Parts: sequence; C-alpha cells; structure tokens
Amino acid sequence: MPEALKAFAPLLLDWQRRAGRHELPWSGSRDPYRVWLSEIMLQQTQVATVRAYYRRFLERFGSVEALAAASLDEVLALWAGLGYYSRARNLHACAQAVVQRGGWPCSSAELEALPGIGRSTACAIAAFCFGERRSILDGNVRRVLARLLAFEEDLASSAAQRRLWSLADALVPEQGGDMPAYTQGLMDLGALVCTPRQPRCEACPVQPLCAAQAQGRVAELPRASRKLKRSRRENWWLWWQRADGALWLQQRPPRGVWAGLWTLPLYNSEAELQQAGQGAAMEPLPRIEHALTHLDWVLHPRRAAWQGAPLPEGRWVVAEELVQYGLPAPLKKLLDLA
Ligand code: SF4
Repeated sequence: MPEALKAFAPLLLDWQRRAGRHELPWSGSRDPYRVWLSEIMLQQTQVATVRAYYRRFLERFGSVEALAAASLDEVLALWAGLGYYSRARNLHACAQAVVQRGGWPCSSAELEALPGIGRSTACAIAAFCFGERRSILDGNVRRVLARLLAFEEDLASSAAQRRLWSLADALVPEQGGDMPAYTQGLMDLGALVCTPRQPRCEACPVQPLCAAQAQGRVAELPRASRKLKRSRRENWWLWWQRADGALWLQQRPPRGVWAGLWTLPLYNSEAELQQAGQGAAMEPLPRIEHALTHLDWVLHPRRAAWQGAPLPEGRWVVAEELVQYGLPAPLKKLLDLA
C-alpha cells in the first residue's frame, strides 16, 4: 500500500464528521438489531424508501426477540413493497437464530454465519457495533475504492473482489481509530460524492490521493464485464370477487419471484384465464408493467364476479383482512391499498 494512502482514513473521517450524513434514522446506533435491520433494508433500496419501512418495523418489532416471535406472514406483510422478498424471509430466520443462540455474536466471522448476512453486512455490523477493524465492500464502496486505487481488474471476478477486499482492509484506521465514523464515511462518500455517474471530484475529500482522477480515468472505472440479462414475461391475473367483496388470493411458492406473498391467481395466457373463468364476464383493468432486477413483467388484470366456478388452491380474503397479508406492490396498487 503506497505511503500516501495512509492519509485516506484521516481525510475520510474528517470529512464524514463535517459533511457526512448524521440525520438518518439509524445514524449513530450501536445496537446490532437496528444496524442489521437498516443494512438489510438498504440493500438494493433507496434511503428515502427505507425510512418509513424502518420506522414501521421498529414500531411493530422493537427487538430481535419480538421479530423472532412474529409469524413469517406478518413480517412479509410489513415488508410488502420493499421488494427482494428473500430479505424478509432471511430477516425472520436470522432473528430466530439470534434468539436461539442467546444474542448477537460480536465478530464479523460469526455474524456472517447467520441467515441472510453477507460479508459486507457482517463487517458493517461488527464495525458499527463492536469497532472491528474490517472494511465493508458493498457495490458503492467497490466503486469508490476501484477509482481511488485505479484498480484495473474486472470486478465480475470473485478473485478480483477478494484482492480489492484486502486493499480495503489495509485502508482502515489504525488501532483505536473511529471505525463507526469511518464505515459511515465510506457509505456517505459513495452515496453523496463518488456516485456512479458524474462524481463530484471537485468536492471529494480524498481527491488528492485518487489515482483514477490523476490519470483522467474516472469514467472507465470500476470495470465489471458481467451485465445482467433481462427477460420479459406476460401473465394474466384473475380477480375473483365474491358478492360480499372478498377476493380470492393464492400464496406464491417459497422460492422465486414474490416467494411467500399472496397474489391473485396467475395465468400464462388469456386463453388459460378464460378457461379458469368458465364463461364469467371479465372486466379488463389497465395493464401493469412491473420492473424487477432481471425481469420486465407485464400483468393483465381481469375482474369477474364469482358465481361458483371452481377455484385453485387459496382462500377468500375480505377487505379488512388484507393488511394482514404480504401483498406485492403492484397488487396493492391495483387494489388501491398502496
Ligand atoms: Fe471518486 Fe472523484 Fe473522489 Fe476519486 S476524486 S474518489 S473518482 S469522487
């Protein structure tokens, strides 16, 4: 590690104290439950969206014990709309594992063994709550450090990621340094200054050390060759409505898109839907275009009054009970519950 990079941690710490984010609902917390909850929610989700969910979760589940004691359906219902539902299932499994072992472990190595906690999240919890001197390396931090160090290797390779992680660990503050502020500083720098497009190098506290900036190569780093392949899918949704207003919901399988959530019966074609409808008059509702990370999903909802047609596996749910069910965001919107 070049001598000049010893200045990285002090410059970052100084900047974080002056210009970093201190007003986030989880800022300054040293409670592993709160730090973990915020870290999991922030994966693939914007801070602005997470704020309300974080508050609601803490209101309902004030401790890891309360979360562990809840039913998975209740957790999924509170999570509905945040997306990436495997996070909610892992959240519940992790809470139960923590309670079973009698509390949170204190090291990143042990934290990483819990359900749904990856290495960067484990290092974040250990740094924030226990001052462990390990760097985080989520997508934002990978970008910052790849630029700072002009790290040429393709980050689609896990060997390259491991090498970048060793370099990241070499940058952390000396023994006794402020690991929580440093970790928050890395997150803030990636979110506020060293952004994917048009980074604000002129306002960057580590600009004097930045190799990509010195070499005029900021736009080409980081390198990552693997592009996610998107696919497109079309489905038809059948909204059976009973005379008392109840609707028929089915629970999705435990794996795949919307795993464990409750939705309307889903069909692969209009013909399949008509067959299931057994001649019932179908009211077409506006189509829904739902973008997931890997999938553009077009849904065609149709509403019909139920008059005894055979139903697939599922249950009738009346309007007042809907809040107890984990519903995907497009269904909430369709039912005007969003
Ligand atoms: Fe990122 Fe620019 Fe700062 Fe380098 S100088 S770390 S590219 S914001």
